[in-house]
Amino acid sequence: MLSVNEAEAIIFNLVQPLDNQLNTEIIDLRQAQGRILAAAITSKLDFPHWDNSAMDGYAVRYEDVKACNAENPVILEVIEEIPAGYQPISTLQPGQAARIFTGAVMPAGADTVIMQEMTQPQSNCVLIQVAPKPQEFVRKRASYYHAGDELLPAGIMINAPETAILAAAQCNDICVFRKPKVAIFSTGNELVTPEKSLKAGQIVDSNQYALAALVRQLGAEPIILGIVADEPKALAEVVKTALNSADIILSSGGVSVGDYDYVEQIIQALAGEIHIRSVGMKPGKPLTVATLGHKDSVVNSDIDNLQVSNSAVENRHLNLRQKLYFGLPGNPVSALVTFWRFVQPAIAKFSGLADGWKPVFMKAKTKQELRSSGDRESYIWGKLTIVDGVYEFGVAGGSQVSGNLINLAQTNALAVLPPGQNLIPAAGEVWVLLVGNH
Ligand code: AMP
Ligand code: MG
Repeated sequence: MLSVNEAEAIIFNLVQPLDNQLNTEIIDLRQAQGRILAAAITSKLDFPHWDNSAMDGYAVRYEDVKACNAENPVILEVIEEIPAGYQPISTLQPGQAARIFTGAVMPAGADTVIMQEMTQPQSNCVLIQVAPKPQEFVRKRASYYHAGDELLPAGIMINAPETAILAAAQCNDICVFRKPKVAIFSTGNELVTPEKSLKAGQIVDSNQYALAALVRQLGAEPIILGIVADEPKALAEVVKTALNSADIILSSGGVSVGDYDYVEQIIQALAGEIHIRSVGMKPGKPLTVATLGHKDSVVNSDIDNLQVSNSAVENRHLNLRQKLYFGLPGNPVSALVTFWRFVQPAIAKFSGLADGWKPVFMKAKTKQELRSSGDRESYIWGKLTIVDGVYEFGVAGGSQVSGNLINLAQTNALAVLPPGQNLIPAAGEVWVLLVGNH
């Protein structure tokens, strides 16, 4: 049995991210939120694009006002009013000023803005009693960045600030990685969909829905393949379908040592390579990780030589790639915990994210005593909150067993008890893994 850290290293190593040439698409800026940039963005413009005012006030020549003070005020003639969005027509001569507003273009001849609170208007003049600093409150053209500068690197997620930068730089068509395709199915003769009334021995398949939600949250596309019976033929068929349509395959159930647990057998029958069979963690011990499909990753020149459409290239590439298979345990909590611990970072890495795909752990103070038994790394679910500026972990009440989903609701963190550490006292320090939304 592998340790969690060993399993993590194997899994992260198996992930070959999407290709920044072959696995991209161009999308509109308005659809870009949550997508990963596949190519760096270079500015087409100087920014600011014009010398403009950072204040409501008066555009002046620094020479005219540099020596003024309360005893020696300067009176300047106001020759033009320049609101934002207007092209000034005059050139300031000595002794002249222009009324100007925030964001408006500086008139020729002016080099400094005096904020209006420091001035006194007098009919068509303005009185100034405090000397400004040279070039004060002027946003100089290209003082933020120049045309040709890199604005955003490849491999980052586009969120609000990145969207603002792209919009300001007039980048409408954005080259992003396509969404990873993740096939999901549940195995088990006992499983039924939620709308069915339960016959004796049946249980509702909840994993499929939870896993699809998690996959969507990561910006990937779930391909839902439903419930599959514990039957080798049916299982082989669904795995083949998944191989032809997805990058990553997630199944739940059928990975223990029971007589009806066929996942491993099917992977081997399909010439897959099994890298992990079980991991020393609780919940989540039965976990199968395998690779299936072509071993040789695609050589770009092969693809370049194909005189076919983009989507055909894309499909060929999808089919030629090796696929990662995660056979998650069937118990609902185990399925989610193993997803958060291993699958989530794997999908995030696969999606093209350069950084920030690894699991995030934080140190917190535990409100209650934390206990585990045995020598597996234990994950205890609960809620992380900030109390008086300190992160505190509160255990979810109720039964913490891998079949009991109910108290997972509203949790956002898993406290981690390393192997061999069976007790952390109340108010003690614990590492927690952040999960879900915060
Ligand atoms: P297995 O890993 O197939 O041995 O399943 C372990 C336990 O999880 C059994 O009690 C199953 O009934 C339950 N289980 C398996 N798959 C699911 C699922 N998709 N949704 C909810 N419970 C499941
Ligand atoms: Mg089963």
